[in-house]
Amino acid sequence: MTILDVLRTKRDGGELSDDQIRWFIRNYTDGTVADEQASALLMAILFRGMDGRELATWTDAMIDSGTRMDLSSLPRPTVDKHSTGGVGDKLSLPLCPLVAACGAAVPQLAGRGLGHTGGTLDKMESIPGWRADLSRHEYMAALRDVGAVICAAGDDLAPADRRMYALRDVTATVEAIPLIASSIMSKKIAEGTSALVLDVKFGSGAFMVEVGRARALAETMVALGEANGVRTTALLTDMNTPLGNTAGNALEVAESVEVLAGGGPPDVVELTIALAAAMCEVAGVDADPAAVLAGGGAMDSWRAMVAAQGGDPDAALPVASAVETVTLAEDGVVQVLDARKVGEAAWRLGAGRSRKEDPVDAAAGVVWRSRPGESVRKGDVILELHTSDASRIAPALEALEGAVVVGDAAPTPTPLVLERIG
Ligand code: URA
Repeated sequence: MTILDVLRTKRDGGELSDDQIRWFIRNYTDGTVADEQASALLMAILFRGMDGRELATWTDAMIDSGTRMDLSSLPRPTVDKHSTGGVGDKLSLPLCPLVAACGAAVPQLAGRGLGHTGGTLDKMESIPGWRADLSRHEYMAALRDVGAVICAAGDDLAPADRRMYALRDVTATVEAIPLIASSIMSKKIAEGTSALVLDVKFGSGAFMVEVGRARALAETMVALGEANGVRTTALLTDMNTPLGNTAGNALEVAESVEVLAGGGPPDVVELTIALAAAMCEVAGVDADPAAVLAGGGAMDSWRAMVAAQGGDPDAALPVASAVETVTLAEDGVVQVLDARKVGEAAWRLGAGRSRKEDPVDAAAGVVWRSRPGESVRKGDVILELHTSDASRIAPALEALEGAVVVGDAAPTPTPLVLERIG
């Protein structure tokens, strides 16, 4: 077999055989197939797509490029959640300990953020002492003793994906639905969870802006999970408005702790409970997440989860040295708070990175004091910009141009959870 045969097959609209797919993934992962040849195949897949059989084999070959973890020795059912990423999406922080407190084990291998949506590990790393890197022994012990772990994926988790995702990022091939679905699901299946809930977002701050594409991605991922023996369901959720009241690492940890303490923004509470209920259901755990949250069980699990990874749950979080406010020029009702613009501003303030080796500013981010549907007055502070580097404020203000729209009538409310798939 040669790479040129593989490229010609897909370029001309043919189906790749199972052997061709396995050969390509194996030889790309070990460096035999060059990046420029892999780029050509990825672009051909973006235009030609893959059918169900090709996608199943592709995903399986990505899983086989590394180790599939075995969590069957754990005394509780395992269930994880994956979000396609959104602005202010801190849901994993209250959700993992909540589901652990409900009786399941949550083995979350997470990533660092790139671009305008923050990564879960970046948020957790703003807690003094907290470590993302755990040995296999520490990981299993945390899952057994606490029931929830959020940590960095090791190098042996679908290594084909790590190489290919970096290449897709620089060849404009991230957007292909089969490539996104296989990338996400190969890692989740290799992680060893027996059940999975996907939070697939649509809207201005989401990876998939159009709801139709988000639905197609959700359906593709649910089918891949089920075909691999992972009980999988997806919620399609609205990301036109950012979640909660903050975007930024330490700011989002503080907001998550408010949720665990029984308060917090209503939208974060609503989605945390909806996802927790779906996770309990697919894991076969009979629990009422709203009651567990209200009873303080999730806060106990959070404290144990943070401490098990070296963090101090009582330590003060980093605070910005520079804070700028934006005030409103008119009375009215907030119509729009644009998630993409808020995410871009948080990123420019230092909360996110442009290259994967860049550091992040734990204290940086944006706080919004009102949400769509709320009445506001001229002179009210609507936004706070937090950063440790005051020179970042001007570019962030530029990104926020038009982010808040105030009008006379209240906007029509839209549901946070649009539908469930699977
Ligand atoms: N996240 C992933 O892990 N992979 C993709 O392809 C897109 C988002």
